[in-house]
Amino acid sequence: MEAPRLLLATNNQGKAREYARLLEGIPFTLVTPAEIGIHANVEETGETFEENAILKATTLTAASGLPSLADDSGLEVYALNGDPGVRSARWAGPRATDAQKVSYLLKQMKNVPEGMRQARFRCVIAIALPGGRVQLTDGECEGEITLESRGKEGFGYDPVFFIPVLNRTMAELPPDVKNKISHRARAAEKARALLEQLAEEQAESL
Ligand code: IMP
Repeated sequence: MEAPRLLLATNNQGKAREYARLLEGIPFTLVTPAEIGIHANVEETGETFEENAILKATTLTAASGLPSLADDSGLEVYALNGDPGVRSARWAGPRATDAQKVSYLLKQMKNVPEGMRQARFRCVIAIALPGGRVQLTDGECEGEITLESRGKEGFGYDPVFFIPVLNRTMAELPPDVKNKISHRARAAEKARALLEQLAEEQAESL
């Protein structure tokens, strides 16, 4: 019997590739909206990662009739009261490059002394089913914002996100190491357990 399909609610090729690796071996065949001819551009209008992830997953499930997995993620800096948070992608302007995002963050933090620069990445995953059921998982990764960029790997705020236990910025870690400790990896690991359970429930109901 063919594995049921799971729609990965993203048009971002990089993210799709990352999830293909993180969810390897799940009892679903991952498909992207483009692969099944769906062109939904969901505006992230929510005030929380949870709201945005649910919005994306339920919109894609309504459009396709398939179970969907969507995520929302970002950086929360304690000294900035949790900013940029859900606005992480657009904080420095709608078309800002990664380098511009990083320099905008460092500028906002120029008066925050060392020792007060703790931050965390967060990722929330929503899995929506055609009957209306939605399940959430989340993952965090704790670190500190450096005073300048270091490293060339990863994307976004990785070059200024320092992880004390590894003594490296996220951008200094090889991708396979980031994929073990990142907020996205942790949320995906919990999503994997949920998906295995869902597949079992579906098989039992046949
Ligand atoms: P989204 O989940 O695609 O909406 O991403 C939100 C934004 O958060 C991204 O554009 C990045 O700026 C930032 N972000 C999320 N995850 C990471 C990460 O793993 N490294 C660096 N920046 C990230």
